[in-house]
Amino acid sequence: MSKPTTKVHNIGVLSDRQYLKQSAAVCPVCQSSQITSETVDADGASGSANVTCTVCGSQWTDIWRVTGYDNLNEGMSEAEIEAIEAKVEKVRKDKENQGHGHGNQGGKKK
Ligand SMILES: [Zn+2]
Repeated sequence: MSKPTTKVHNIGVLSDRQYLKQSAAVCPVCQSSQITSETVDADGASGSANVTCTVCGSQWTDIWRVTGYDNLNEGMSEAEIEAIEAKVEKVRKDKENQGHGHGNQGGKKK
């Protein structure tokens, strides 16, 4: 109990709010920005990362969450998508017509 310690006391450690105010880019203990983080878990909309302060040696886990998305770059325009859907529909109809009245769908190709 009376053992002297070099450990930093919890007093003065940043709270969640203070930590976020610093963009989670500083050590909650010594407030150095010399920290390295490694994502250890990512599951869809949330995840966590192990963070180490290279100055005081503190380690902690960042908890992060996706809050939305930005800069969406759509692969196709609406017109292109409609054109593809029309093609798919045409192929489907052609297939239906071919198999009509025979009942040997999936048979030999021409
Ligand atoms: Zn530190």
